[in-house]
Amino acid sequence: MHDWIDLRSDTVTRPTPAMRAAMLEAEVGDDVYGEDPTVNALQDRLAAELGFEAGLFVPSGTQSNLLALMAHCERGDEYLVGMDAHTYKYEGGGAAVLGSIQPQPVPHAADGTLPLDVLATVVKPIDPHFARTRLLCLENTWHGRPLPLEYLADARRFCDAHGLALHLDGARLYNAAVACGVHARGIARHFDSVSVCFSKGLGAPVGSVLVGSRALVEKARRWRKVAGGGWRQAGMLAAACLHALDRHVARLAEDHARAARLADGLRGLPGLAVAAQHTNMVFVDVAPERLAALGAHMDAARVRLSIGYAPRIRLVTHLDVDDDGVERAIAAFRAFFA
Ligand SMILES: *Cc1c(COP(=O)(O)O)cnc(C)c1O
Repeated sequence: MHDWIDLRSDTVTRPTPAMRAAMLEAEVGDDVYGEDPTVNALQDRLAAELGFEAGLFVPSGTQSNLLALMAHCERGDEYLVGMDAHTYKYEGGGAAVLGSIQPQPVPHAADGTLPLDVLATVVKPIDPHFARTRLLCLENTWHGRPLPLEYLADARRFCDAHGLALHLDGARLYNAAVACGVHARGIARHFDSVSVCFSKGLGAPVGSVLVGSRALVEKARRWRKVAGGGWRQAGMLAAACLHALDRHVARLAEDHARAARLADGLRGLPGLAVAAQHTNMVFVDVAPERLAALGAHMDAARVRLSIGYAPRIRLVTHLDVDDDGVERAIAAFRAFFA
């Protein structure tokens, strides 16, 4: 019997033997005292790589974004964000709930950008009637699509013109960089802060890093403690992230190639519409009335899908999906739609 092929998300990867070995060997200390050498090495390395003064290692991307928002904004401030952005839609409303920060959501354009002419209409004048607009938050990749580099430069100019800070939810920053053929710094340089997830395509079990100015990161560190995210010998987890930076960045191109193969293999099947593929995600649309049967069929073929955000299904390639897995998934889809 074959192993399961899990296409639900790139969060499902398990640490490789080499990553586990690196974790076991990590030097550790108490990170609340700032004494974990491996955590410090990870924070310093990512900050340097992305062109920032400082970094902060945190348990999740949700916490990283929350700390960034709370470090940029005060109570009664506002941030501009996409209507379908992770920070707005999938993080429990944390900015409002815990930060007293009002979100101003705006619709995304088809390419995931937030049109700057639309943003210009929602920046509030300084007036006691309004929340103070302080920050624009972008997400890259956006549903598997890298934001255009020119747009990032335009967004930077927009923020400078309106006195706003610019934060990037770069959960998949490295997928975007690999897909655009640029160093991650070429994306990060437009932003005041960037959050990077290590537990997605980079394959670490836990962790995100927020980078920014020293002052911003010190504010975030305080909020991390308040949020219960002050951790102790976290170096074993940071070691996995350092290992991922060494070994799992360039290989993201393999995930992208496998996603391209998957998209090609599914295109043209009757009853299945395949959207344009850019990085490690393939989106397919299936008639809602066929979803339950498709789910059962794929289960029997031991291909795991997340069905539920009907009618669109997201298929994600990652470290634990090889060429054979992609071919098996294609064959299972073909058998169903043939
Ligand atoms: C996964 C993800 C996050 C953070 O999620 P956690 O599960 O909290 O680590 C943030 N933004 C985007 C776009 C993501 O995909």
